[in-house]
Amino acid sequence: MSFAFVSGNPALDLAGTVGSRRDESIDLLTEPADLERWVSECDELPDRVTADFAMFEFALSLREAIYRLALDRVLDRPFDPGSLEIINNTAAGPVPTITLSDAGLHMSGDLAAVLSQIARRGIAVFADPHACLKECGRTGCTRIYLDRSRGARRSWCGMEECGNRVKAAAYRARKRASTTAEGS
Ligand SMILES: [Zn+2]
Repeated sequence: MSFAFVSGNPALDLAGTVGSRRDESIDLLTEPADLERWVSECDELPDRVTADFAMFEFALSLREAIYRLALDRVLDRPFDPGSLEIINNTAAGPVPTITLSDAGLHMSGDLAAVLSQIARRGIAVFADPHACLKECGRTGCTRIYLDRSRGARRSWCGMEECGNRVKAAAYRARKRASTTAEGS
């Protein structure tokens, strides 16, 4: 399965690498190489990092802390203290360096710097009282995303990922209902 960057924030996208969290969850990060690929595919992070097993495990604990804080935010309840400690400690580390050239912005740094950057981006969104965080409307998706649409009317994490699936299922259900009605 490919990674989706539809949450509007890299911290939320990292949390979204586990899908269907309440049922049989699907984890897209099963080994350090998966994390390396995720970082390289994320537009807001350096192109290349290497992950050893210890850093990989650390990244997963940050991911789960981010998810917990995002859920606390969605449910409008106090933040989990253990998760706050993880995100705050991670954010305190050195961050990637950025340089400007005619090619645009270039970001570089190791995985520790990348995780620090992700933690900071997470803190920024969780601390923003105007940030509208929502859980995807497709049953079972469980991805939390930042709704920046006008009037915050977005219902799904991504059209391709979930919106079209919901619409197709609704269409099939309507069609089935009308076929049954005709048959009776
Ligand atoms: Zn979704």
